[in-house]
Amino acid sequence: MRIPGEFEEFSYILGDLDSVEVTGSLYKCFKCGKEDLSDEIVEQIKEVTLDDVAAGVCGTEDETRIYFVCDKCKRKEEMRKMRRARRMRRGRRRSRR
Ligand SMILES: [Zn+2]
Repeated sequence: MRIPGEFEEFSYILGDLDSVEVTGSLYKCFKCGKEDLSDEIVEQIKEVTLDDVAAGVCGTEDETRIYFVCDKCKRKEEMRKMRRARRMRRGRRRSRR
């Protein structure tokens, strides 16, 4: 693969991205543990954590626990819910007859 000249110039930025990835791995999907969470979710986690720190419950049992999953798992979860809802609708219709 040919690497465009621009990348050489910006290699220091790419280097920074590498280190960002290492710290970013703190925020993996809670379900599969493989996929990174979206920036939006990471921001939410940070906000919640800051709230916990402010409330002095961080690291205690009162700590806010939110189940964050990656887009892939979220889609899977939604598909399952949709299938379940469809099954329930069918079941209700059948039981009425
Ligand atoms: Zn996941």
